[in-house]
Amino acid sequence: MDTKKPTQQKPKSERPAAADAKSAEPAGGTAPETSRSLNFIEQIIEEDLRTGRFEGRVHTRFPPEPNGYLHIGHAKSICLNFGLAARYGGLCNLRFDDTNPSKEDIEYVESIMDSVRWLGFDWGDRLYYASDFFEQLYEWAVQLIRAGKAYVCDLTADQIREHRGTLTAPGKNSPYRDRPIDENLDLFRRMRAGEFPDGARTLRAKVDMASPNLNMRDPVLYRILHASHHRTGDRWCIYPMYDFTHGQSDSIERITHSICTLEFENHRPLYDWFLDELGIYHPQQIEFARLNLTYTVMSKRRLLELVEEECVNGWDDPRMPTLVGLRRRGYTPEAIRGFCERIGVAKFNSVIDVAVLENSIREDLNRRAPRVMAVLRPLKLVIDNYPEGQVEELEAVNNPEDPAAGTRKVPFSRVLYIEQDDFREAPPKEFFRLAPGREVRLRYAYLVTCTSVVKDERTGQIVELHCTYDPATRGGNTPDGRKVKGTIHWVAAQHALKAEVRLYDHLFSVPDPSDVPAGGDYRDFLNPKSLEVLSDARVEPSLAGAAAGSRYQFERQGYFCVDAVDSRPERLVFNRTVSLRDTWAKIEKKQK
Ligand code: ATP
Ligand code: MG
Repeated sequence: MDTKKPTQQKPKSERPAAADAKSAEPAGGTAPETSRSLNFIEQIIEEDLRTGRFEGRVHTRFPPEPNGYLHIGHAKSICLNFGLAARYGGLCNLRFDDTNPSKEDIEYVESIMDSVRWLGFDWGDRLYYASDFFEQLYEWAVQLIRAGKAYVCDLTADQIREHRGTLTAPGKNSPYRDRPIDENLDLFRRMRAGEFPDGARTLRAKVDMASPNLNMRDPVLYRILHASHHRTGDRWCIYPMYDFTHGQSDSIERITHSICTLEFENHRPLYDWFLDELGIYHPQQIEFARLNLTYTVMSKRRLLELVEEECVNGWDDPRMPTLVGLRRRGYTPEAIRGFCERIGVAKFNSVIDVAVLENSIREDLNRRAPRVMAVLRPLKLVIDNYPEGQVEELEAVNNPEDPAAGTRKVPFSRVLYIEQDDFREAPPKEFFRLAPGREVRLRYAYLVTCTSVVKDERTGQIVELHCTYDPATRGGNTPDGRKVKGTIHWVAAQHALKAEVRLYDHLFSVPDPSDVPAGGDYRDFLNPKSLEVLSDARVEPSLAGAAAGSRYQFERQGYFCVDAVDSRPERLVFNRTVSLRDTWAKIEKKQK
């Protein structure tokens, strides 16, 4: 597996704050001060600004095809395009690249707009659809025919492929290549008029069947497809190909820097060819490396398969690398923007460790998530010498990273729940939590000593602990200065709220699920333990009424958010966004 560490990673202090498209930079094209060195795209743009190319304008676009939900890879492109516009006082458009009606849908259009906005970017009044340009594209196709640069071809898709040749062998000219211009014009008009069935003919550019670049071997410009389009309805039965649409859309929108992923590098000669042959305004295409992440897949086709085959619970399943999934999982837009800034942009493909993404959300939530106590797998603890019926309100710190967050009261009483994991009948060497005869600190409360264990007679399972507490240790203090190594969290049984907690692990059990052995399938690598549901968790009562989507640190457990879909006031559901770094897990692993 080729897992490279991100190459552009900088220490936090050296990184500028994530670009915020809404706080527009003053026009005029000067970069804000930053100590980070320019990435290669910024270098190109600054050179263009210096030489006055594009009249000093910077105008980018984010061009999704509405055939699925956006994923974290798209976030990289969004942050890059909107971020460059903000940085250089320019503009960024949102353009739907909607040339393939059979795979596209309005549902995707809406979710894409929602995700871009959620990430914190604003396209203002610059929302475009390639389908709005269909008439102009048709006229440009006619212009190429008139110039003898395009022809109607009757070869089938298979025949076109056979004629194309290979990387080592030149292609063969189509027998229709030298059709007279008038015949081409007539046939193309009749293609548009719906006279021919799907696939009967195509319009192709007349470039060079011997070109070493296969994309230049008379590429198809238009195909016949009798399909309803989500915007143009049945107005068209011929649809332009991506290559014939993209550059011209950039040209119409007067984009300056058309930034796309590396796969399009060898489409650039064609991008340039169309604009030059048509003699229209010519933006600069620039390619960068797409984002790949470990333990997930990042192509919309595969994500769609996972949804359709119900390997996950929809596009917004918190295990998905989609923006709606990450959002439901509890990721913040700030964390995702910070992640994109941190990984930077480069010209060579690499795979980023998903731990880098997880760290971005940890960092963000550490700053702002209020701390609460929640017990995921409850074990009853009875304090025998604590007065029956007594309740104390103990003071707990809301966020040690943020003094302004203040404190809250947490009820304490005789019967508590602690984490099953926080007790061992036979503790291993470095286990500092509760064990028979041992004393621990209950966070914000008292020191307790375990006096006895109650077990289920049949199963031998521990069902209840008995303890005594030291009333002199209120607030967890030890007036006599005695040392207690372990501090554990708890909730009061009578006051705690029942909750469901969903723990997530990587969707795939191997770092690179697309590295499939012959005869295998990436789905073979789905992690059967990617979701664990704990239906009997207890959370402190301050969480009553917690709003959908609100985020917390469950002390010692990780960051959690209220599930925006399934949580109800009478039964809270929490998603674990990310765990805390659990040194204990590591210690135990080493011991084994
Ligand atoms: P996928 O391969 O996931 O289906 P796509 O490239 O077909 O993605 P588009 O909707 O065409 O999806 O992508 C919109 C923009 O987002 C394009 O400019 C594309 O280059 C960019 N993009 C897509 N995936 C990534 C990625 N993993 N990293 C960076 N940019 C990406
Ligand atoms: Mg695409």
